[in-house]
Amino acid sequence: MTPTVSREGQQFIAGRRRRGGSTTELNVIDPSNGTLVAEDTHASTADVDEAVAAARTAFPEWSRATPAERSALMHRLAAELDAVAPELASLESRQGGKPIKLAEGFDIPGTIDNAAFFAGAARDLSGKSAGEYSGEHTSSIRREPIGVIGSISPWNYPFQMAGWKILPAIAAGNTIVLKPAELTPCTSVAFAEAASRAGIPDGVINIVTGKGSTVGAHLTGHPDVDMISFTGSTPVGRRIAAAAAATTKRLHLELGGKAPFVVFDDADLEAAARGAVAGALINAGQDCTAATRAYVQRPLYDAFVDRVAELMRQVSVGPADDPATDLGSLISGDHRDRVAAMVDRARRDGAEVVTGGQAATGELAAGAYYLPTLIVDADQRSEIVQDEVFGPVLTALPFDDDTEALALANDTRYGLAASAWTSSVFRAQHASAEIAAGCVWINDHIPIISEMPHGGYKASGYGKDMSTYALDDYTQIKHVMSASRPTAAKSWHELVAA
Ligand code: NAD
Repeated sequence: MTPTVSREGQQFIAGRRRRGGSTTELNVIDPSNGTLVAEDTHASTADVDEAVAAARTAFPEWSRATPAERSALMHRLAAELDAVAPELASLESRQGGKPIKLAEGFDIPGTIDNAAFFAGAARDLSGKSAGEYSGEHTSSIRREPIGVIGSISPWNYPFQMAGWKILPAIAAGNTIVLKPAELTPCTSVAFAEAASRAGIPDGVINIVTGKGSTVGAHLTGHPDVDMISFTGSTPVGRRIAAAAAATTKRLHLELGGKAPFVVFDDADLEAAARGAVAGALINAGQDCTAATRAYVQRPLYDAFVDRVAELMRQVSVGPADDPATDLGSLISGDHRDRVAAMVDRARRDGAEVVTGGQAATGELAAGAYYLPTLIVDADQRSEIVQDEVFGPVLTALPFDDDTEALALANDTRYGLAASAWTSSVFRAQHASAEIAAGCVWINDHIPIISEMPHGGYKASGYGKDMSTYALDDYTQIKHVMSASRPTAAKSWHELVAA
């Protein structure tokens, strides 16, 4: 059966799904075969204004709801998402060319778990401490929501990103306007629809879809938006930070990554090789935490390179809807060409491509496929080692001692995630302390869980998604100081007036 093309609109404003108000066409294309998934027009600036106004109108009631009331609705949201999980997986797979196995096994269940987690966490919004510090006053802490959150998300994990942005924000009592990436808006709109079915009031969650330079920029500069929560590339994050400064907005920035994968000479070689292939190729490498730079201690280096190349050649590259597919297409032909150009430049600069290094041929040539690629002999300072490729490309370089390995691991501007592979608990502890990244895995690479935070160091940004740390980002702290006895205020006033 040919999947239907959605024409209902990729905007969700004040509880209603609708088409965008601009005249610019918005076509969501399955990059694995070029078929149309959805068509609409981009949101207009008037749509953004309306969405922000809806979020502002919804804010007083939503922020004053008790944590238990918000929690109950969010539990229903998790159930509504669960009820349509197969449809969500299919849509997520089609709009991104993502293997159905990944959408069904990771994107959708992970986000539903996140919804269940934040439904529970919504009830734990207490302040850190309160007490009688001056002897004459009692202090207490109120944690209050920030207001209207403007969120901007990327195309690589659209449904998970919708969850990561929306769930902690609304759990803390904020309302939100989310602008998903224009290439992949469909499951963000489906998320908002599920929230509406769950009974979350109109205006609490709004979606506006369109280009970053128009819709995203208007949201960032909007005077009635209190905070911008952005996930995307470092250059765009910097632009958003500069624009947000004009209206003193709070910021939460989850930016790019270039994760090192450090294999010490006492590591389990087979486990490390398998971990490197899975870590580098997840979501066709379009993952901000993907393993991109393997540093391998010299005694294991040649065997690691041989085994990774062998495993990469066995990976099943194919259509997103084939349950056997491990590696689907990239997000677009333009992106595949960008990945190919980076690999070609690395080759021209003297690096060796051990396997891959080209777009898929034959039946897959019509889609945006790029083969699993392993590169050796690249210079540590070269583009392929320093910059995000965001494709199924891993570089491998040897090292001699631990100090050198950790220096190499830290030698990019990014600091989102890293892994260390060793059988020594001391080396593992040392590596986890020395590597400057928001997450360090030991003898694994990639897993995430709702209870633990995700977020960067250095140019990978600041702020945390998932976990109760995210609730900190979406609340502001108020100190309330009450005179403990009638004379307290009087004695304080005596300092300035009798
Ligand atoms: P991108 O930065 O190009 O775009 C991200 C979003 O920003 C999109 O919705 C886009 O429309 C919008 N945007 C672009 N210009 C804008 C502007 N001037 N004002 C406001 N909004 C604007 O990123 P992408 O190509 O969609 O996604 C890939 C990037 O995202 C990679 O760098 C990846 O590492 C990063 N990423 C980071 C995380 C994380 O958690 N740190 C997670 C996923 C992806």
